Amino acid sequence: MSSKIWLSSPHLSGNEMKYIDEAFKTNWIAPLGPNVNAFENELGEYLNVKHVAALISGSSAIHLALIILGIKSGDEVLVSSFTFSATVNPIVYQGAIPILIDSEEDTWNMSPDLLEEAIVDRLSKGKKPKAIIVVHLYGMPAKIDEIFSIAKIYDIPVIEDAAEALGSKYKGKPVGTFGDMGILSFNGNKIITTSGGGALISDNIEYVNQARFLATQARDNAPYYQHSHIGYNYRMSNILAGIGRGQLEVIEERVKQRRENYNFYYEHLKFPGISFLTEIEECFSNRWLTTILVDPIKTGGVTSSDLRLGLEKQNIESRPLWKPMHLQPIFRNYPSYLNGVSERLFDLGLCLPSGSNLSATDKNEIYSFIKLILSEKKIHDINF
Ligand SMILES: *Cc1c(COP(=O)(O)O)cnc(C)c1O
Repeated sequence: MSSKIWLSSPHLSGNEMKYIDEAFKTNWIAPLGPNVNAFENELGEYLNVKHVAALISGSSAIHLALIILGIKSGDEVLVSSFTFSATVNPIVYQGAIPILIDSEEDTWNMSPDLLEEAIVDRLSKGKKPKAIIVVHLYGMPAKIDEIFSIAKIYDIPVIEDAAEALGSKYKGKPVGTFGDMGILSFNGNKIITTSGGGALISDNIEYVNQARFLATQARDNAPYYQHSHIGYNYRMSNILAGIGRGQLEVIEERVKQRRENYNFYYEHLKFPGISFLTEIEECFSNRWLTTILVDPIKTGGVTSSDLRLGLEKQNIESRPLWKPMHLQPIFRNYPSYLNGVSERLFDLGLCLPSGSNLSATDKNEIYSFIKLILSEKKIHDINF
């Protein structure tokens, strides 16, 4: 059998070892050092954002952003329901209450209508939400203008979860740079990787200084170890930042390759019942993952799980869309504002292999098998 085609596997540029070697030669094997500083500067330049703190993960970046905004036990935080659990977990780390907001159809991200409905409803219950976490899922920018104008009216700070969206833009400006703070992830399957890592970004120097302070155990300015705050060990290591520097050199190429994957699937999978997440005018997506909806009423009975299991037999990895947080056993009792959109996306959706290292042969193979599964199922239905 041919080797496995992965959903989204690490894709090295070849320059990572140069920076890692430097770290070894200079003995900077620590959660600080020249690669960390350079990675922060280079990332800041790429995103045109003033300040960057490199951290161990996107999750830790969200956690720090919440702490910096003063989120405490019992506070309410509005958050996209259609996301990965890592967006919501840090709210619960703080003892705060996630208020889950469903998606809209255009971008699959937070519905501005439901966001406003939720704010009005929480206010009527006597509780003002303390923050909004808006996610740019699968690299598709959320409806920034609408969401930020609501946030402004009600004076609620916004954290952008751009873990999946490095390289995506809204009206030409990088996502992650609109909010009070933005967060990024460099986990192994993201568009660029440091094996594991993340960043908190902001134009507000106070926020980023605080992030660095909290991420290095919150040490007071004293000759001995004195602490007036609870700290965390969240800083990125100098080795991993070296990987990040090598990766960042090719980010534009990676965005291009991921977008080419999407275009390939879009051009080839013109079958009844298969539809795509398309870009609205303001949005430029990095197309981290290509996602399709499979409507069994129009495919002749073939479902997204038929496709997934059929591909799996051919050693090709695909994956259901994120299961919305309001359907998760651990989160389903939290307040939610729903319209059925994300549940329907979860029922019908599939993520196709989307690595920037997919070859033309891989893509043709994936296309042929999808075509075969769609036609076989129809024959099967006629015969039996
Ligand atoms: C990956 C991811 C995170 C968390 O990032 P880690 O670096 O894995 O901690 C957060 N939110 C979303 C939407 C993600 O996809």
